[in-house]
Amino acid sequence: MSIDGLQQHERHESWFIRGATLPNGTRTDIRLADGRIAELGIGLSASGARVLDADGLIALPGLVDLHAHLREPGYEHSETVLSGSRAAARGGFTSVFAMANTLPAQDTAGVVEQVLALGESAGYVDVQPIGAVTVGLAGNQLAELGAMASSRARVRVFSDDGFCVSDPLLMRRALEYVKAFDGVIAQHSQEPRLTEKAQMNEGALSGELGLIGWPAVAEESIIARDVLLAEHVASRLHVCHVSTAGSVDVIRWAKARGINVTAEVTPHHLLLTEDLVRGYDARFKVNPPLRAREDVEALRAGLADGTIDIVATDHAPHPVESKDCEWDAAANGMVGLESALSVVHAAVVATGLLDWADIERVLSRTPARIGRLAGQGNPIAVGSPAELALYDPAATRVFGRADLAGTSSNSPYLSMTLPGDVRATFHRGYATMLDGAVRSSLEIAGHASGVVTHG
Ligand SMILES: [Zn+2]
Repeated sequence: MSIDGLQQHERHESWFIRGATLPNGTRTDIRLADGRIAELGIGLSASGARVLDADGLIALPGLVDLHAHLREPGYEHSETVLSGSRAAARGGFTSVFAMANTLPAQDTAGVVEQVLALGESAGYVDVQPIGAVTVGLAGNQLAELGAMASSRARVRVFSDDGFCVSDPLLMRRALEYVKAFDGVIAQHSQEPRLTEKAQMNEGALSGELGLIGWPAVAEESIIARDVLLAEHVASRLHVCHVSTAGSVDVIRWAKARGINVTAEVTPHHLLLTEDLVRGYDARFKVNPPLRAREDVEALRAGLADGTIDIVATDHAPHPVESKDCEWDAAANGMVGLESALSVVHAAVVATGLLDWADIERVLSRTPARIGRLAGQGNPIAVGSPAELALYDPAATRVFGRADLAGTSSNSPYLSMTLPGDVRATFHRGYATMLDGAVRSSLEIAGHASGVVTHG
């Protein structure tokens, strides 16, 4: 999805954003024209452009989510590429990596190209398909990694997420294979035998509630194995949704040793704890599970000191019937695209651990780099692609259904008070969301119809 994809026949809007604050604290006007940032500075001329008053708003490069489930093909009653793209635009995202656990799975060039095309016709964000590591995510046989890498979808991130690549020989082969095209294996670290029938974090509370526990060691042992495998074959590993204090320690050790590993944490693991399970509200059921307060503190510290590289949402939409049932029967997962920036704000900015320049790094620049995605994650500078989110840090809102823009509403934050709100999102110079309202699909599709080249 290089910027070369911007063709001359694509329509653009001209925008004059007045008085925004950059992540480094500098105040500036921003002029968008021809899909790029055309001018920066104070007292620029609006000269015919649409004007947006950004007084008090922070301008961030468009957010990049390395881990989202868009559910299409196969589970369109939960989400589609179009509805998930709208949720992304609502949350300030301009790019989303779509996980491979669709039906059929994204394990061939044909399926990843189909998802890419669905993203292009939706037009709200760059949808970058992730490829499955194994055929059908079944963990038996490597998928056609090379064919997906050389397809029009240019896949660089491979994951069986939802499942762990638990066979060490397959994991080794996958890590070796992706070196040829600078790919990365994104592992869902969960030792299956240690987590059979698990329902929540293993600890005193799981004992008290009588629910089968998901022990921290099931995550930590896989991460320890995988960083050693990555070192052994000199390849690149990415650890999905790190959730325990011990995992942060293992990754810190691996990085100090020079192992090529990156890691992500979700907004919900930075804010919520296992205590929420007490109410048996299945909106709080997620995999890996919500952990203890000490884990949350360690994840925040790990993000602050760079052990954890990025925040990724693990946006996981489910229909009402999969959540409105007994805890044991409910599906794992939470929607997260629309709330991500506010939740990260609450967890690590309001607590003084990260500043807005750090947020630019962990939610835009570094995820784009890990995923080798051109045209995203660039600094706000003249000539950069016009990918922007405008965020109001002073706002406070009771998060509600009206704040959700996707198909499903399984958000853990409904009726919680969250800080901040995204006021506008710009993708390829076009406003995909303004004042909380996602632009109509018709307008966006018309805008995107000329985009046929994929670099
Ligand atoms: Zn996962």
